[in-house]
Amino acid sequence: MCGIVGYTGFQDAYDIVINGLRRLEYRGYDSAGIVLESTNNKFEVEKTKGKVDDLVNISSQLKGTAKIGMGHTRWATHGVPSDRNSHPHLSNNGKIALVHNGIIENYDTIKTMLTEKGFTFKSETDTEVLVNLIQYFMDINSDTDFPTAVRYALNEVYGAYAITVLHEDYPGVLVVGRLGSPLAIGIGEKEYFIASDASPFVEFTKEAIYLEEGHMATISLEKGVDIRTINDNSKIEPEIQELKLSLEQIEKGGYEHFMLKEIFEQPKSIHDTMRGRLLVDEGVIKMAGIWDHVERFKNANRIIIIACGTSWHAGLIGEYLIEEYARIPVEVEYASEFRYRNPIITDKDVVIAISQSGETADTMAALKLAKEKGAFIYGICNVVDSSIARITDAGSYTHAGPEIGVASTKAFTAQLTILTLIAFKLGKHNGNLGNADFMSLIAELDAIPKKIEEVLNTTHELVQNIAKDFVNATNFLYLGRGYNYPAALEGALKLKEISYIHAEGYPAAEMKHGPIALIDENMPIVIIAPKKGHYDKIVSNVQEIKARKGKVIAVVNKGDQQVSAMADYVIEIPETSECFSPIVASVPLQLLAYYIAVYRGANVDQPRNLAKSVTVE
Ligand code: GLU
Repeated sequence: MCGIVGYTGFQDAYDIVINGLRRLEYRGYDSAGIVLESTNNKFEVEKTKGKVDDLVNISSQLKGTAKIGMGHTRWATHGVPSDRNSHPHLSNNGKIALVHNGIIENYDTIKTMLTEKGFTFKSETDTEVLVNLIQYFMDINSDTDFPTAVRYALNEVYGAYAITVLHEDYPGVLVVGRLGSPLAIGIGEKEYFIASDASPFVEFTKEAIYLEEGHMATISLEKGVDIRTINDNSKIEPEIQELKLSLEQIEKGGYEHFMLKEIFEQPKSIHDTMRGRLLVDEGVIKMAGIWDHVERFKNANRIIIIACGTSWHAGLIGEYLIEEYARIPVEVEYASEFRYRNPIITDKDVVIAISQSGETADTMAALKLAKEKGAFIYGICNVVDSSIARITDAGSYTHAGPEIGVASTKAFTAQLTILTLIAFKLGKHNGNLGNADFMSLIAELDAIPKKIEEVLNTTHELVQNIAKDFVNATNFLYLGRGYNYPAALEGALKLKEISYIHAEGYPAAEMKHGPIALIDENMPIVIIAPKKGHYDKIVSNVQEIKARKGKVIAVVNKGDQQVSAMADYVIEIPETSECFSPIVASVPLQLLAYYIAVYRGANVDQPRNLAKSVTVE
């Protein structure tokens, strides 16, 4: 959600900032802006509602004018997307420029105080309050220097932020801070980069500092990086990390969209998720995070899975998996509901948090609550060293590689893979999954990447053709039973996220309790009907739909007869044990959503209003 890029060094700051903002576009945004510190130490600011291309249209005269600057892509929280509300924001005296990712929750109180002192505001944002608060601290005491004023101001605000600040009277100095939103500092040879993630600077340096919660840094070519705690100014020794990210991973590699690339990457990404963990020949699953704490899991009263969006759907499938194979009770909660409903949590509970970005604000807050109450916290994240990964007691990275399309695909199937490994490992350990079943299940899991490859090869063209017939659809239903009920939810979510067609997922049997009223010849219904998993019941559901002339798109196993005979469109996938069917069935549903969106002319990788990493509550 929102992107920040900053630079000081010997290269053209305009190019670095603009190219960096493009790399962060995937995070979701509605406006973009840039400020450069020109050679006479004056600010040059351009900002606009719209895309980075729109910003380039109004700012290209700034190219080649500065070696220090910063930029922002805004995802509006306070005030509509508009030129005025775009970042950077300047202080009243015009000397301080600030970009911000997050929300200043007490901005109103501070705004009232500043207004009484004579400050005026041009925008409706919470951010403009913060930049003026910094000016205020410098105004009231001329001994207060710029970094100190930033620190004072940050001590007055609560909420979430990653900020980067420049001051005209402190040429060459960038001040950054974070609480709740991520910020990385790239360390080059005679240059420093700042960004919401490492993608804007990966081709320039492999060394980075991930700023910790509650820390700020003052960065200049002369003095390097000085990190301090925001609350008491204690000096912190920087921990420099080696980046694993490569340029290739964050480029489209010949695909039209990142989403399509990521759908096609799934055989590899699932393989990568299992690599070093699933050792079929030895008949073991190695997961240190689980093994080191296996007694906590074994003795848990229950497991609570906390997540949002697609990760929540993965969590629902995790519930089926863990209850079936490990026989431990599982509850799945929306993070945003869990944290505000005064939940009963004890130190006998194990909480599993699932988040692609590892920055999801609601999930983070729910975890903190569970931690306070003594629960054991396990994380499943894709982004290494993310905030959630850091606060958990243990966890597993999904290792799916950077996911840039806003609609999650490969991260979802990677999450399912981790949850499958956890269920099998715990089941084997606590004796609920016998050795013979364990061995055959892990062999089957090992073969899933091959099956996905087959699905991609055999359904890609077919699904494109099906998609053409539904470009003008206004509603969709997705139905499934058992493990495929959450897969239906996820299929529906994919479609609505990127095509803006209203879609709902339901357990197939629930159809009779309401949604059946919607069915007529104009209603497309995607039904997931693999052989293993209540097939006979699904056959009846398809009959009920056809009796009302609904248009059925059926995802079935190869060689299927009954459902295929009734369906209007048939997509065949290879047969698997029931527990693996959501992973395999998800792939054609991702393709269906993708192609419908493409044919409707939608911006697939950056759907309207959505953000990749949802760092606000
Ligand atoms: N709350 C700020 C605004 O609405 C920043 C939003 C963002 O993270 O982009 O301008």
